[in-house]
Amino acid sequence: MPNPLTLPRYMTRFRCIAERCEDSCCSGLKVPVSQAHAQRMHEALGEESKLTPNPGGSATESAFIQMRPDGGCPFLDTERLCSLQRRHGDALLPDICATFPRVVTRWGERWEVAGTLACPEVARLCLLAEDSTQPESAPLPTLLIPRPNSARDLARAPEDAYAFHAETVRNALLRWLDRRALPLASRLALLGRFAHAVDDFYFQGTEAFREDARAEAQARLDEVLQHFDAEQTQEAIHQDFSELALPGGPCVGLFASLLKARMTLRGERFQGLARGVLTSLRLDADTPEDLDAAWRTYEARWHHVADTHGARLEQVFHNYALHSVWRTPFTDSPSLLAYVFRLALRVGLLRLMLMGHPRLEALHREPFAPDAAESLDLAVVETFQLVARHVEQSPEFLTLAEGLVGTGRGAQTLGKVLVFAAF
Ligand code: SF4
Repeated sequence: MPNPLTLPRYMTRFRCIAERCEDSCCSGLKVPVSQAHAQRMHEALGEESKLTPNPGGSATESAFIQMRPDGGCPFLDTERLCSLQRRHGDALLPDICATFPRVVTRWGERWEVAGTLACPEVARLCLLAEDSTQPESAPLPTLLIPRPNSARDLARAPEDAYAFHAETVRNALLRWLDRRALPLASRLALLGRFAHAVDDFYFQGTEAFREDARAEAQARLDEVLQHFDAEQTQEAIHQDFSELALPGGPCVGLFASLLKARMTLRGERFQGLARGVLTSLRLDADTPEDLDAAWRTYEARWHHVADTHGARLEQVFHNYALHSVWRTPFTDSPSLLAYVFRLALRVGLLRLMLMGHPRLEALHREPFAPDAAESLDLAVVETFQLVARHVEQSPEFLTLAEGLVGTGRGAQTLGKVLVFAAF
């Protein structure tokens, strides 16, 4: 019997739209190359292999393709086609190019395929359909997994307790994020509180589950999971959190600096969006920065647009949060709290960028315009896709996240989760 595959529904609908795509797979991405593949590229291309070594990187990331200064791939030809594939066929493509926009993970015998929002078609399918994040199961079609050997295997022995319990914990995160009776901000606060409750014994490299202590640590994890599953716990967290009033100006300042740092480096589409957002919130270089004023503009715009398009906004951010948990295993982060913090940080950034999008500025003025719903959807796809491609994995974003919470443990990190969840 073929191995089972799980995938969110949007990936069952995905087909590359090729020349109709508003972007291309070949810009704004970091392309790691495995040791074996780098060798093959050197043999086939010699000096033209355009690889930068990655000293100290793993065998799967021994080098990176050296992108052009605008973030474009050096192998992209004048007709926006891949010259590597044209001249040498699929076999010479690095794994990520052969697999994009799929993200393939193995949990032992079970496979999962998610998508990356860096692809505009994936972003559309994931964010705009009500049922897009529902899990689907299927026998494993090889078409979806062109390079099975490059998939990450997350199944672990019981000694690695952080990874060993990851599926159970992740299922809980997905279940709680799906509790749409609560606002997304409260659901993020719930995830933060849970992460904080397990922070002293459930993290990368924990020793708390070793040998004789294992049964006790597992029982404690089960108990905390059960506690946070209870409706009254969730309601209590929601009530507490709703009463918090947090200042947004400092967060606006952090996001504006991030955008300014990124827009000098990236391609035209991202530069246009970042400039439009900064101008519409009066955060551009020609205007003196008033962060509190920008925060008030953002808040007013959000409330006003939500009056007419609240259900759509709720659905988009709900899908985004679920997609994030599908796409990026929390075991990549040193602690669950650090992972939830990054999720809340990204949601905050996306909320600001969406409300700063020039189309949303127009929607704020004319919420009942005949093309209002269509315009909102266009702004959503553009914003989420460009942030996924140009910001989320960037050194500037990762440095900002690390600078704010370090390895992400303790009450201070929980406080910062709540600040960005409330944003
Ligand atoms: S970004 Fe997505 S839709 Fe666009 S060309 Fe690449 S795979 Fe196709």
